[in-house]
Amino acid sequence: MASGTFSDRVKNEAARIKLEKDCCRLAELSGLLRAAGSLQLSSGQQTAFHLSTDHPAVARRIIQLSRSLFDWPAETTVQRSNRLGGKNRYLVRLVMQRWDEDAIRKLGIIKGRSMAVGIRASLKRRQCCRRAFLRGVFLGAGSISRPDKAYHLEIIANQEPFAQELVEMMATLGLNARIHIRKQKPIIYLKGVEQIAELLSMIGAHNSLLYLQELRIMKEMRGNVNRLVNCDTANLEKTVSTGLRQAESIRLIAERLGMERIDPKLRQVAEARLSHPEATLGELAEILGTGISRSGINHRLRRLEQIARGLAPDL
Ligand SMILES: [Zn+2]
Repeated sequence: MASGTFSDRVKNEAARIKLEKDCCRLAELSGLLRAAGSLQLSSGQQTAFHLSTDHPAVARRIIQLSRSLFDWPAETTVQRSNRLGGKNRYLVRLVMQRWDEDAIRKLGIIKGRSMAVGIRASLKRRQCCRRAFLRGVFLGAGSISRPDKAYHLEIIANQEPFAQELVEMMATLGLNARIHIRKQKPIIYLKGVEQIAELLSMIGAHNSLLYLQELRIMKEMRGNVNRLVNCDTANLEKTVSTGLRQAESIRLIAERLGMERIDPKLRQVAEARLSHPEATLGELAEILGTGISRSGINHRLRRLEQIARGLAPDL
């Protein structure tokens, strides 16, 4: 289960969800058929649905669903990939001995005398069925990018009216999907980790959802740690360079003016800075230990720099 892409992981999980109700089985099978299937009418009496997928778990799912609803024999053939690391394709044929109009209609494949364009009303009336239909469509034609790279999910639809209805149906599940036309095919897509998480939850892929959230937290934490480290380094560099500059000014005062000529309150701070050029104001306050505040120290150091600038205006 850990092998493969995130998309594989989600499909492997979603294709194994236990379904309690026939209404949802029908809706999921319908989604699968609409996304990855075609109805084949041969010259004889035989009618068959052909489905093609590169996920063995999805192929098994199709067979299980159809077996639980209808008495159609299933045939599976595997097309082995010639490419190294290429995916095999699984072709599932659900064979009807006769033209089973009732079943084909219930599955929302035909409407009236013609092929259905939209989604059959009875398949999207209940929320449980809308989720099941969406799961079927995703199993058949969906994919998700690697979440460490981008948050992008898409479903390839065959026809625009179907894509439109699917987007509307997804909206009733809180999913803000959009359509983009690529190579004359409507692509339904979701962007952003929240929307993808929502879809995973809707199709019941809860382990994948947890994995996505863990990845996201890790990503955010890594970002925060980097930001903190960068921020600390920047602050540290700033403190050190300020301290060095102040020590330089104090040395100048000592040379040109003599330390004994400056106010004892300033001198105390000047000596502390001179012996600890890298110390922060807080550390200087501790070194001095005379109850002088950090802002008091800061004020005196500025005063010292002013004096130094008076001695060497180009400083
Ligand atoms: Zn249902």
